[in-house]
Amino acid sequence: MRIAIGCLQQESNTFSPFPTGIETFRANYLLKGEEIFAGLGGARVEVPGMLAVLQEAGAEPVPLIATHALAGGAVTRAALDELLGELLARLKAALPVDAVLLALHGAMVLEDDSDADGAILAAVREVVGPEVPVAASLDLHGHITQRMLDHADILVGYHCYPHIDMYETGQRTARWLLEMLAGKVKPALAMGKRHMVLSPNGATTVAGPFKRLMEQAVALEQGGEVLAASLFPVQPWLDIPDLGYAALVMTDGDPEGAKRIAQQLAADAWAVRDQFDPDLVPLAEAIRRGMAADGLTVIGDSGDATTGGAPGDSAAVLKELLAQGVDRTDRLAYLTLVDPEAVQAAERAGIGAEVTMAVGHKVDRRYGEPLTVTGRVLTLCEGRYRVVGPGATGAPMNMGHAAVLAIGPIRLLLMTYPVSAWDASAFLAVGLDPRAATLLFAKSPSHFRVYYTTIARQIFNADTPGPTCCNMRSLTFTRVTRPLYPFDEQ
Ligand SMILES: [Zn+2]
Repeated sequence: MRIAIGCLQQESNTFSPFPTGIETFRANYLLKGEEIFAGLGGARVEVPGMLAVLQEAGAEPVPLIATHALAGGAVTRAALDELLGELLARLKAALPVDAVLLALHGAMVLEDDSDADGAILAAVREVVGPEVPVAASLDLHGHITQRMLDHADILVGYHCYPHIDMYETGQRTARWLLEMLAGKVKPALAMGKRHMVLSPNGATTVAGPFKRLMEQAVALEQGGEVLAASLFPVQPWLDIPDLGYAALVMTDGDPEGAKRIAQQLAADAWAVRDQFDPDLVPLAEAIRRGMAADGLTVIGDSGDATTGGAPGDSAAVLKELLAQGVDRTDRLAYLTLVDPEAVQAAERAGIGAEVTMAVGHKVDRRYGEPLTVTGRVLTLCEGRYRVVGPGATGAPMNMGHAAVLAIGPIRLLLMTYPVSAWDASAFLAVGLDPRAATLLFAKSPSHFRVYYTTIARQIFNADTPGPTCCNMRSLTFTRVTRPLYPFDEQ
């Protein structure tokens, strides 16, 4: 049995005005054909999970492409045409195949199409025809559309946020596809949707209302009532039509049952919509509390979250550290900034040199101005490494050329490209041990908690400015379908 396998993922953020081009995919990884097998290795992401299941079943994987860009602005038409064009060309060359198995995100938006994942599935369907099963895994922040359901036989979302089950979701998707190919199940998909937008750190599966909702969905799977029940609180920073919370249900040959259960799951979330507010701490207070405590305090710079599509170049935290005089203490503070110009300035100065430079807000000036600082260049390096923390463990990351600037005890990690801040692997890659720090800032709203909970004395989510601001009510939506909770009375 020959199963075509591919991955084409990006999570868009339409509050970022910077389009995502092909170079952003290449900077992270773009693997073609057999490169997929060695390039991803045992990374705990979807494709290796899918491959493991196919191998166990003796099915032959036919590799297409695997690429993942870090979250950012809408993807350019040219980038999608090139990537999807390559995927489809390899698929056509491989025909006939018995099925297609894809790892998608679900919230990719194009400059001219708010449903890129639907477009990808429709294009794949056109190549293979109606008889060949098409299965896809999806991120729990996917923006689910009817077009996606129309062109896929199997859709399976993560159960966990923070996303510690990417590999397992790949496995589940592949297993249902094999069951379908064996004639053991006839998947029927249906969606229930409610137009509401929830703060991501108020909708995790660690605690709170969304944890309970997901437990109910998983119980339906375990009880055999459904093949898969997936909940999508959606990437909230998308100003696009039909934005909302989706429940996606897959039953065995029962479309009516799938529809009824999906609508019930969506209604269950709607009923508790006022319970999702996030726990945000003012930045200045979070820093004061960290400086007053022993051990490591980790603070989420949630407004500038690179995994949510922010550029990672906000200097709001650095500005507050200097305002509170942390640079004149002996307490180590670690933070990152995406600033290729500053990296180059550090490279020109060389290791050990003292430099004065403007840092931050070179990409996005809407939330602040570049900040002039003086520091000593501690480290210069080429920043390719692999994720060490839970969720996407082993996945390749690339921050490009990087430099560490010491501003007193502040360690400012300057990088060329944004990377995931889910764990300390970027700091470790430049020789900074998180356990030695008093303060560590992660440009992430939630996921960073999983890794740091084992080493931090306390963790806060700071209410910081930027295109991933977690205070939903502060965002201005103009293209969404109204009414939309929490903006409109319903
Ligand atoms: Zn997600």
